[in-house]
Formats: sequence, C-alpha cells, structure tokens
Amino acid sequence: MSLVFSSVGTPSVAIEGTEDRYPARRLYCIGQNYAEHAREMGYNPDREPPCFFMKPTDSLLPSGEDFPYPPATNDVHHEIELVVTLGKEGKDISPDDALDYIYGYAVGLDMTRRDLQGKAKEQRFPWETGKAFDNCGPIAPIVPASKIGHPTEGRIWLEVNGEPRQEGDINQLIWDIPETISYLSKQYTLCPGDLIFTGTPAGVGPINKGETMEGGIEGVGTIKIAVV
Ligand code: MN
Repeated sequence: MSLVFSSVGTPSVAIEGTEDRYPARRLYCIGQNYAEHAREMGYNPDREPPCFFMKPTDSLLPSGEDFPYPPATNDVHHEIELVVTLGKEGKDISPDDALDYIYGYAVGLDMTRRDLQGKAKEQRFPWETGKAFDNCGPIAPIVPASKIGHPTEGRIWLEVNGEPRQEGDINQLIWDIPETISYLSKQYTLCPGDLIFTGTPAGVGPINKGETMEGGIEGVGTIKIAVV
C-alpha cells in the first residue's frame, strides 16, 4: 500500500518549556458558556444550555504566527478561550473523574466569521462556514496539568491593538471543565489529542487587517496574533 500523495501529517501544538509537541486529534468547542457572552449573542443563559460544535484539526495556528484575514466575510470576530487538552481515552466519564483525563491547558482563540455564522443560524444550517475555516484556531503552547494543576479561576482577557475588548474570569464558566468533559464523553469517545475550546467571555467584536490581538489567562499563558 502506498499513499497516492504525501500526507500533510498530524497537526500538533507546542508544549511550554519543551521541544515535545502535542499531537492533535479533534477540536471540540463549546458555545454560550459564559452568561454575559450568551446574552450579547441574543441567548438567555437561564433557559438555553451551552452548545457544542467542532473545528477542523488543521485549523490550529501557533501563537506568534500571522492570521490571514479569511475570505468570504466582512465580519471576523475574536473569541478568547481556555482550551483543555486531553491525555487519556474515555467515554461516559463522571464529572468526579474528569480531571484524570486532562493533559494540560492552553490559551486559544475561536476565530469566527460572524456574518456567515449569523446567516447559518437564520437558515437553520450548520455553523461550519462561520466557525470552521483555515487558521480559525490560534493557540498558545500547552502547559501540562502536571506543572500548573487544574485552574478553576483566573482572569481571561483580550486586547486588540492594546485596547481592552474581552474581560472575564474562568470561574464564570456555566459548565465547568469536569461537567464539559463529562457531557462530551456521553456523546463521543474522547481520546488523547482531543482539545476542547471552553467558550468565551463577553466583549467579542470584529478585527481588521493590520491589527494585533493579544490576550491571556492568568496562570495559563498568553497569546499574540497579528491579522494580515
Ligand atoms: Mn467560542
């Protein structure tokens, strides 16, 4: 057997402080997981639970690299998020056991073509055109849980060209990390290499060519991406 063309290989993410890399398998994302953000998107967080969607694994973009303004849109939004990365296979995981499945944490951006997402919502179509496109998953190096433990609070923030845009605390997650892993594991077999973007705090907004996004999560790291 031979491949008919050379494979692009396994996408991977840098691991802080080492030359090793984390091989990525799937990118799960959770939407409307901070009440203030759910409200700014027109949802009622008291009535509507968070939702799940996915991004392509090859859309991961390392912090420090340029984000090319994507095609077919005039309204690209930033969403700063805590990313959980898994290190162990499991399904039907209880919230009490969920932390055992975590490899580490990273700061990520769920870049969104908001106009296309809005159109998809109106037409009751899937969100892929809005959420799943080239380079839509910028991510900083992963910090292993063996180094930092399991953060449950800490400031999460994003600035564009030094102007504050997003601000929150990861203790405001509607579904916390164990609940998120447990919920997902009842629908999918989770595996090492799976990343979960856990949702964004309020303050999402548009970015333009020539601007720089810079953000972080206290105790986890920082990310910096220029839009070109
Ligand atoms: Mn998001």
